[in-house]
Amino acid sequence: MIGEKSCPNCKQWNDAKDAFCVFCGSELFEKERRVKESLEANPDPFKVPLIKIGDKDGYLIVFGKRIIQLVQIVFFGILSLLLWIASILPG
Ligand SMILES: [Zn+2]
Repeated sequence: MIGEKSCPNCKQWNDAKDAFCVFCGSELFEKERRVKESLEANPDPFKVPLIKIGDKDGYLIVFGKRIIQLVQIVFFGILSLLLWIASILPG
């Protein structure tokens, strides 16, 4: 039913606006919240974990880190290309 949400604990119907069950007090959207939290914890599992450049890093360190970032991007690019090729190959 639209606008209603069944309680995961006692199966009673609650107004979907409510965060908690009015009958038993269980969290109505616990599953949805967990999914959302796990997505926020890992926004993009395929995102390239680039090395961070700090504000206090010196010119040479920044230069070196930029090269590492470039290598990382190229590496992940090749990796995703290989995965793409593997996914389009039959069998
Ligand atoms: Zn309940």
